[in-house]
Amino acid sequence: MTKNNQQSPSESVSNQHASDQLTKIRSALLALRDAVILLNQDDNVEWWNQSAQDLLSLQVGDAGKSIFDFIRVPEFRQYYQATTTTLSEGVHIESWQDPKRYLKCELTPFGDQKLLIIYDVTRLQHLEEMRRDFVANVSHELRTPLTVMMGYLENFSDQPDMPPHWRRGFELMSQQTARMNRIVNDLLLLSRIEIEETHELNYIDMTKLLTHVYDDAQAYNQAYGHIIHLQIDTYDGLYGSEMYLNSALSNLVINAIKYTPKGGNITISWTKTSEGCRFAVEDNGIGIAAEHIARLTERFYRIDKGRSRATGGTGLGLAIVKHVLYQHEASLQIESVEGVGSTFSVVFPAAYVRTASTG
Ligand code: ADP
Repeated sequence: MTKNNQQSPSESVSNQHASDQLTKIRSALLALRDAVILLNQDDNVEWWNQSAQDLLSLQVGDAGKSIFDFIRVPEFRQYYQATTTTLSEGVHIESWQDPKRYLKCELTPFGDQKLLIIYDVTRLQHLEEMRRDFVANVSHELRTPLTVMMGYLENFSDQPDMPPHWRRGFELMSQQTARMNRIVNDLLLLSRIEIEETHELNYIDMTKLLTHVYDDAQAYNQAYGHIIHLQIDTYDGLYGSEMYLNSALSNLVINAIKYTPKGGNITISWTKTSEGCRFAVEDNGIGIAAEHIARLTERFYRIDKGRSRATGGTGLGLAIVKHVLYQHEASLQIESVEGVGSTFSVVFPAAYVRTASTG
């Protein structure tokens, strides 16, 4: 034995310790219920645990083969190629062996290698579907009784001989049923958008759509007296769902009107950017404290419930906006300073923009 190969007793103990730790980590990974796969810099499988072996039908001789030989789902390839940081959220895919199973793939690059973990999320997916169906069914079932109640309340309220002490009660019943009706309609719209994973992409003339949004806003604005500007800097249009986009963009404009004290300034704009096109609504209203911003698109999240109700809000508007934008691969940005005002902006990626010159 040469001198270089000789180990001191303390080195030998620490090597033994490291080797024991490694064996423990390997055993833990092997026993994990989730599939774990180690990939090299050429995207070839290097090491995997038992669950990965079962899921991908890997065999001993498969080391060194490309991961794409085993997972042929296009969404996975897209996700894989786009993942360059550890902050990625993962991708949900249907199992290629059993369409009733849902998987979530999460890729973590480290050094020039990558760790792929595949979770079975079938149960979660089913719970999510149950939640969606339940909300859609309840909303649907509530529609008919509500329509009947609203109809009768309207008839009774119109009676000239109604005793005055009943009138207030009827007014309140009418207001509350109208509110319930708005909530049910918003819930139904939200369910529809959520269920429709894809929709037909039609050409939308944004100048026309925004003029329509602006006219509706002016009608709503009568009680507020704000000055509303419409600034269209490009004739570029979009590909998307006109009905849903109209609803989402109107929601942002109506919010600006509702959450700005009377006589404010609101600017609606449509501009070209390096990424695509940007829609924005700027107001000089009450603004939003920073801690609320990240939660605003959650269903029923309202900063001031009383104010939202008083202005006819359902607390579902921004949740609808988020889902509609998600369908168009657009994102919502909220900049706001409490007491100064807010800007809600949406950037539509170039893939959804139809430039005016090619129109
Ligand atoms: P709502 O029906 O209550 O308006 P939304 O989902 O549309 O529900 O909005 C959620 C909450 O976000 C509102 O209750 C309000 O507190 C806040 N918000 C939305 N837009 C604005 C705005 N332009 N200025 C200030 N607050 C806003």
